[in-house]
Amino acid sequence: MNLCDTCNGACCKVLLALETKLMKQDFRCFIAMHKDVTQSAGYLFLESRCRNLGVDGRCNAYEHRPNYCKRFVVGGKLCRACRALYNVA
Ligand code: SF4
Ligand code: SF4
Repeated sequence: MNLCDTCNGACCKVLLALETKLMKQDFRCFIAMHKDVTQSAGYLFLESRCRNLGVDGRCNAYEHRPNYCKRFVVGGKLCRACRALYNVA
């Protein structure tokens, strides 16, 4: 089974940003106070479902998806962080 078949598009439901050490403490605090922003594993996640994500958890624009999506590493650190956000084992 493909790993992506198990999480219903977790990475397609969030906007992601790396929480860097260079990010000032006050800005991190500001971001964290916003509704729907989650901090996990060194990333900031803003819940925002991609309009191309189908109800079946598959991309409806697969052939024309952005390069960002094409380069996303299945099973990589960011993938695992997204899955953790949605409590997918
Ligand atoms: S890349 Fe990772 S988070 Fe995205 S759908 Fe596949 S398994 Fe889920
Ligand atoms: S374009 Fe497709 S792969 Fe990219 S975030 Fe949207 S649904 Fe996911």
